[in-house]
Amino acid sequence: MTSESLTGEPGGVLPYVDVHCHLHDFRIINDISGIVQRAEAAGVTHMVTCATMEENFAATSALARQYPAIVPCYGIHPWFLESLSANWKQVLGDRVASEACGIGETGLDFTDKQADRDQQLAVFTFHLALARDLERPINIHIRKAWDPLVQMMKKAGPLKTPGMVHSFSGSAELVKVMERYNLYISFSGSVTRPEAKKVVKALNAVSRDRILLETDSPDIYPSVSDPDPHGLNEPKISRPLHRSPRPGPVCRTRSLSEVSMPMP
Ligand SMILES: [Zn+2]
Repeated sequence: MTSESLTGEPGGVLPYVDVHCHLHDFRIINDISGIVQRAEAAGVTHMVTCATMEENFAATSALARQYPAIVPCYGIHPWFLESLSANWKQVLGDRVASEACGIGETGLDFTDKQADRDQQLAVFTFHLALARDLERPINIHIRKAWDPLVQMMKKAGPLKTPGMVHSFSGSAELVKVMERYNLYISFSGSVTRPEAKKVVKALNAVSRDRILLETDSPDIYPSVSDPDPHGLNEPKISRPLHRSPRPGPVCRTRSLSEVSMPMP
């Protein structure tokens, strides 16, 4: 499929969705109207903003109410489990049930060897069950915890409502496993780094209709020739990642094609 066939214009612009960012973040929230304006001017139609703990659920919800282009997700990030309240399951469940939203950011991160892995597994299992019960998409963070994720997926079977793995860092082989369980694969600015060979290999393994792009704003600033001096990422930055210099498959973004994909 070419960008031309999707847009009807030669070299046309595809509507773009930033599938994972954190617009509630204190480093950027004060500039939110500018961020939304710049994103929309750059052709970003929607921004999926993920809460990371109960404390930022309300701010995420307020952003989504104020700006129709912002789509909220609610979850507890594996880095912030110490923030859990006694009734977090109720808080999360009520929030998700009462809003048009997805679930996340949630997942497993075993990078820190001191992390409480059992607690991470229990919290993530609850999010997965909620996603199934309420038929919501789930926005998943996985670092150095692929085996437990695959075990969980094997046990529960493919997701009824598709989910996604954000800022994918796994192998090309894992891509196929993720797809089998109805997960989409999302790539962040990390794929543009010169040393990102494994991620680039994984990118090449993803089915053409399963690739998503994200900024993870305000983090993961991509390798671009003209970086913003403040170094904070924002959804408009997705646009240069996405625009194809000539008609080509949808995933062949300028930056991605530079680093990864042989054109036919
Ligand atoms: Zn994130």
